Amino acid sequence: MVKCSFCGDILKPGTGKMFVLIEGKALYFCTMKCEKNMLKLKRKPYETRWTKLYKKAEK
Ligand SMILES: [Zn+2]
Repeated sequence: MVKCSFCGDILKPGTGKMFVLIEGKALYFCTMKCEKNMLKLKRKPYETRWTKLYKKAEK
């Protein structure tokens, strides 16, 4: 099972997008929104309110 590298949502088969970094690490994104936030805006999931990782960190 693959989870979105940014928001932590589970990707359904046939959805989402894989992004491979130069160093060979693969990232998965459920939506363009997640991709943009991580790659363009350089946001951290733990500091971004709408991600699942943020909610975990808040506990
Ligand atoms: Zn996502």
